Amino acid sequence: MSVMASAPLLELGWDPGWASAFLPYDAAGWVPARVVVANRDAWLVATADGDRDAVVSGRLRHEAAGPGDLPAVGDWVAVSGTGPGDTTVIQAVLPRRAAFTRNVGLGEATLAGEQVMAANVDVAFVVAGLDGDFNLRRLERYLAVAWAGGATPVLLLNKADVADDLASLRVAAEAVAPGVEVRTMSALTGDGVDALAADHLGPGRTAVVIGSSGVGKSTLVNALVGMERQRTGAVREDDSRGRHTTTHRELVRLPGGGILIDTPGIRSLAVTNAADGLDDAFSDIAELAAACRFSDCRHETEPGCAVKAALQDGRLARERLASQRKLEREAMRVTLANDPLARAVERRKWRAIHVSVNQHMRSKYGSDR
Ligand code: GDP
Ligand code: ZN
Repeated sequence: MSVMASAPLLELGWDPGWASAFLPYDAAGWVPARVVVANRDAWLVATADGDRDAVVSGRLRHEAAGPGDLPAVGDWVAVSGTGPGDTTVIQAVLPRRAAFTRNVGLGEATLAGEQVMAANVDVAFVVAGLDGDFNLRRLERYLAVAWAGGATPVLLLNKADVADDLASLRVAAEAVAPGVEVRTMSALTGDGVDALAADHLGPGRTAVVIGSSGVGKSTLVNALVGMERQRTGAVREDDSRGRHTTTHRELVRLPGGGILIDTPGIRSLAVTNAADGLDDAFSDIAELAAACRFSDCRHETEPGCAVKAALQDGRLARERLASQRKLEREAMRVTLANDPLARAVERRKWRAIHVSVNQHMRSKYGSDR
């Protein structure tokens, strides 16, 4: 059992919850590891005794219903074969606490479904640039993505060194980020970077960096990781069969003890699958809506609508409501495009509505005549 409480594991984010989830695998003689790189058929995992190339067991691959069931970066897994010269085999994936996912279209992959971009993330740094390109609507989108990924968002207002009106931009950002910690910083000058790491990247804490292009994500990642490490991220690995594979670490242990997951695509993950995060990202609207007279109020023409009242007296910005609507529609479109079951449910719902509308019209206007 000593391996299950070892310092290297704790540095990878291991905790008593993972240890208890691992017990059955421990009994099987397997050891815990965290996925550092996930490719189609090659993995790199970090064990208590260092990084190893790994493959997935035939059984795990066979039982996977989609790509989401295969090991993803950030996953905790149970592996066999960690002796010298052994082939390391991933036998099982521990149940994820949460994940940042992207839907892969039916035509796009052999196995359609969700692709996991980063698993078991504690905190999501949502970066916005305080320069000319400051965009609240985009911020809302990334906050929704963060919540949907099961991570606590921290809103980073970057480029504070060139901000014209930092105070009012901050107020505007806080208005679209209810319940979210908002920090100003400069990734370029380094101002606020150490404090960010100290507050949010303690030993074993796992983070991702997301946001629009040009806001300073790479600069921040470099500042957190250290330039040199980032540049030399591609290292040559010797796998057990003597092949050379070039591997770039996508789960990076930071000098201060935290962990950064930086997989291709994660930084700019858009609204896809943000649906689950919309309620959190727009908790102010959800709160208002709770006071509407009708529980299914659409905040359009219904009487006793608390949302419309808030629009009228300026407590809620029209753009914010419109933005929520738009994200909801997009998320719905994505869901329908990827999920036949949801599509069928939606069709049934519309059929039911048509039937009841027709009945209503008939009884009222006798349109059967
Ligand atoms: P990314 O697309 O989000 O990864 O953005 P980058 O990190 O590539 O940064 C885009 C541009 O903004 C680059 O020219 C950076 O040097 C610049 N930049 C990043 N952070 C800051 C900052 O804090 N202040 C200023 N003035 N410029 C920054
Ligand atoms: Zn309403």
